[in-house]
Amino acid sequence: MRGFFIGRFQPYHTGHHEVLEEILKEVDELIIGIGSAQESHSIENPFTAGERILMISRALDEINTDKKIYIIPLEDIYRNSLWVSHVRSMVPPFDVVYSNNPLVTRLFGEGGFAVRRTELRNRRVYQGTEIRRRILEEKDWEELVPEVVMKTIIEVGGIQRLKDISGSDV
Ligand code: NAD
Repeated sequence: MRGFFIGRFQPYHTGHHEVLEEILKEVDELIIGIGSAQESHSIENPFTAGERILMISRALDEINTDKKIYIIPLEDIYRNSLWVSHVRSMVPPFDVVYSNNPLVTRLFGEGGFAVRRTELRNRRVYQGTEIRRRILEEKDWEELVPEVVMKTIIEVGGIQRLKDISGSDV
């Protein structure tokens, strides 16, 4: 059975990581979709699709699995009713969708897919918005992401990037 899990991963955090570990117990192969792949360099979406691939593939190296995992960037299309077809056209065939995002579960459900809800982990802090806020305010954020993700964010200059793009030109 091949599963599909999509996120924006801005950034990939420990909540995502724990969910992936659980999903990998159930599937034979997994597709990880990097959503909103066209977005980067904004406060909501600071990291490029390529940087997010790096975060995820490095974090996955630390999970002891020999299962095949495909990481595929997916651009948004501004027509929700066609989105499932768009996704299907871009990734290998899959049998089950894992998500806790209400729009994602709704659209794949309407598309006839089996959808399994994932469990939220410590959502108060394992949340992209919270992590980006802490980076900007120079508060502790490092413990909210896998260590290799923390190193990747630093390596790509993510901290200074967030500060620069949140600045004002007046
Ligand atoms: P996300 O990174 O916020 O979350 C990814 C997944 O991880 C979700 O299932 C979420 O519930 C789960 N998660 C997040 N925090 C967690 C925690 N602490 N513990 C456990 N699980 C946690 O990404 P998202 O917003 O769900 O990504 C959906 C993507 O699909 C977006 O990029 C969106 O633009 C795209 N999309 C596009 C269209 C379109 O183009 N028309 C339509 C629907 C969705």
